[in-house]
Amino acid sequence: MPEENKTQPAAGNFINDIITEDLKPGGRYEGKTVHTRFPPEPNGYLHIGHAKAICVDFGAAQRFGGICNLRMDDTNPTKEDVEYVDAIKEDISWLGFTWDDRFYYASEYFGQMYDYAVELIKKGLAYVCELTPEQMRENRGDLKNPAVSPYRDRPVEESLGLFERMKNGEFEDGKMTLRAKIDLASGNFNMRDPVIYRINRMHHHRTGDEWCIYPMYDFAHPIEDAIEGITHSLCTLEFEAHRPLYDWVIENTSVPSVPRQIEFARLGINNTVMSKRKLRTLVEEKYVNGWDDPRMPTLCGLRRRGYTPGSIRSFCERIGVSKTNSVVEYSFLEHCLREDLNMNADRAMTVTDPVKLVITNYPEDKTETFEVENNPNRPERGSRTISFSRECYIERSDFLEEKIKGYNRFYPGNEVRLKSAYIVKCTGCKKDDNGNVVEVYAEYDPLTRGGDTPDGRKVRGTVHWVNAADCIDCEVRLYENLFTDPEPDTGDKNFLDYINPDSLVIKTGCKAESSLKSAEKLTSFQFMRLGYFVVDSDSTPDRLVFNRSVSLKDGFKKR
Ligand code: ATP
Ligand code: MG
Repeated sequence: MPEENKTQPAAGNFINDIITEDLKPGGRYEGKTVHTRFPPEPNGYLHIGHAKAICVDFGAAQRFGGICNLRMDDTNPTKEDVEYVDAIKEDISWLGFTWDDRFYYASEYFGQMYDYAVELIKKGLAYVCELTPEQMRENRGDLKNPAVSPYRDRPVEESLGLFERMKNGEFEDGKMTLRAKIDLASGNFNMRDPVIYRINRMHHHRTGDEWCIYPMYDFAHPIEDAIEGITHSLCTLEFEAHRPLYDWVIENTSVPSVPRQIEFARLGINNTVMSKRKLRTLVEEKYVNGWDDPRMPTLCGLRRRGYTPGSIRSFCERIGVSKTNSVVEYSFLEHCLREDLNMNADRAMTVTDPVKLVITNYPEDKTETFEVENNPNRPERGSRTISFSRECYIERSDFLEEKIKGYNRFYPGNEVRLKSAYIVKCTGCKKDDNGNVVEVYAEYDPLTRGGDTPDGRKVRGTVHWVNAADCIDCEVRLYENLFTDPEPDTGDKNFLDYINPDSLVIKTGCKAESSLKSAEKLTSFQFMRLGYFVVDSDSTPDRLVFNRSVSLKDGFKKR
């Protein structure tokens, strides 16, 4: 089990330690408000990996009484869409975090970025290079040999003129770039005169065709942070080797503040994929039914699956932040959900594979009711009324014609407790011509109302049931991992080769207790003996649909 999986106290991660140091007297940010940001690229829906980043970014601000901005990192004019922007906001709010009025688009800063680039050129710290992308690759050198650019010593005036003409659209895409003049021999290849602007005639979702040159991420990001007054720019480990460039940009331009980049490990979870590009493929090629398919690791998918914001925050908190990438077990995420729902979900009864049970000695025209507690862990949730009459439904698997060892449910001669109602004794069954059981028979003991035996006799089996007279039909959707391979996208693997064909099983003709008729979308329940379920967004009062969020058995603890 990866170290990160273990339940850990929330306090004390290395990021908090760094911030604490920075705020001390004489520290980098003494007397300042901690200011972080979450900077998604609006090219897809957020996934559970982003939830970790959100908890780290907003969480650090919260912990230190600071603030956190939400910034759409839309400097790369591809695939950006208002649909994504709205969904991103919705997901973050749902998780329970707020950015108040601090919502920004990185593209708002294109003008300033351009000016900072001009400043670099004027300082002799950037130049227009005319190497093609291939030539640049050929000339990037290796550990023994420095990179080469014949344009490096181009006079400042010439670069200034060319850069302006690049901006004015006088050159075709890819013809020229602006490069920072840093160190062609650096052991860190990101510092070998990195490209900071390129020509790319792409329509931008916000700035339209105003720009045909766009800044590269490594140049844009520190400027965005500095403009917004970010103190701690928290990002994932792949940016570690880019930090010297981040700092270089801050140091060499007249940006208004000095942010500090700190990297932490990306979250990976087994049996799923986590990149927006791959998730988009699953959606576009219809392997799943949309971004919010309950099998998706997206936040909207998890929400539809029945995940609560609290369970996801708890998960993110407990996996902790570290400097080592690792893969967390899916079962730990489920464990966090189960914990939450065990406390908070009301109980109910539903039968997914129904067979009729007839209580032959119960009067035909009689109905009685029982008051049952909604949630034993939350007495304030009150109680509900369930009804009982001569015919019920029970699970087909709760009846056997002949007893087998260890089986305590219905078989002729055995006493069973119908949860919260009566003790009944099985007397037999009726079968159709094919030998399938169509009805099970039992007799009830009127002295056991509520399910207790007056004489203390032992009844081992307790089963769930619904009243046939007033139960409602419903559909139940059961989910398994979307991928059969624990790491479907490592190495040379094509994740599409590992799709689990049985990841969704739809059961129709299920029977739910009548109280569920008014259950609202996204409400969670514990269905006795079956697991935790949530009302799906496809559900209507006439056609209830439940998703199984997680089973009752804890695969995480077991291990
Ligand atoms: P993807 O490959 O899924 O598109 P990304 O890093 O390109 O991921 P962004 O929209 O750029 O996605 O990410 C916004 C923020 O979320 C970044 O700070 C990024 O580091 C963080 N983030 C993305 N994926 C993860 C992850 N799996 N674990 C932790 N943080 C993540
Ligand atoms: Mg990205």
